[in-house]
Amino acid sequence: AVELVGVNKWYGDFHVLRDVNLTVERGERLVICGPSGSGKSTLIRCINRLEEHQKGRIVVDGIELTDDLKHIDQVRREVGMCFQHFNLFPHLTILENCTLAPMWVRKMPKKEAEDLAMHFLEKVKIPHQAHKYPGQLSGGQQQRVAIARALCMRPRIMLFDEPTSALDPEMVKEVLDTMVSLAHDGMTMLCVTHEMGFARQVANRVIFMDAGQIIEMNEPNAFFSNPQHERTKLFLSQIL
Ligand code: ATP
Ligand code: MG
Repeated sequence: AVELVGVNKWYGDFHVLRDVNLTVERGERLVICGPSGSGKSTLIRCINRLEEHQKGRIVVDGIELTDDLKHIDQVRREVGMCFQHFNLFPHLTILENCTLAPMWVRKMPKKEAEDLAMHFLEKVKIPHQAHKYPGQLSGGQQQRVAIARALCMRPRIMLFDEPTSALDPEMVKEVLDTMVSLAHDGMTMLCVTHEMGFARQVANRVIFMDAGQIIEMNEPNAFFSNPQHERTKLFLSQIL
């Protein structure tokens, strides 16, 4: 579903992604970890073209990411994203946040968009908050709305970039539970996270990045119990 071949990216002189090769099949759940500054967010952001790579190929569900705006639009419809900061529109209700893109991008009639939004708000377990504003919700609830909002575009792939790292500890679990339930539904997921319990529970592969490279990739049990590279061992010893 997602294929990266020899992907390189620079920010000016700074070589941020170095020959990244990665294939994520439909239904796979990939966890990406690594030290701060290793290029995890950049990698994720290249996949829906929030950032541009300069060398190599990125193919998402058969669509190659080139400068063609038509392809970029197509890919953004296929790929949902959820960030550390939820970026809900503060002046719109929860329901309006969820119906905005389906109505304006997908041209869905309002009633249909609202039914769909309620379906996903139920899925993330906050249908009762639909008519509130983001500021009236807790951080964990807002993040679940952000996930529901992304799901309303019916993405085939979901990208997560540290969705729980800005949350108070007691709210982390409710967001992770939502992600676990998505995984059980068969969603293709690429998640940057240091929640290793989540990785063990749902990932079928974990990759470790350092200095713009994928240093190590393995299934979770082997990754955690038997890391091969010194840098992976050091990293795991610091976070576990
Ligand atoms: P963190 O765990 O802190 O989120 P990360 O692995 O997500 O780190 P990135 O955000 O991908 O790392 O950044 C990788 C490197 O690229 C960092 O050194 C960062 O300073 C640099 N960088 C990121 N965005 C830009 C930018 N727009 N312009 C220049 N350099 C950037
Ligand atoms: Mg990051």
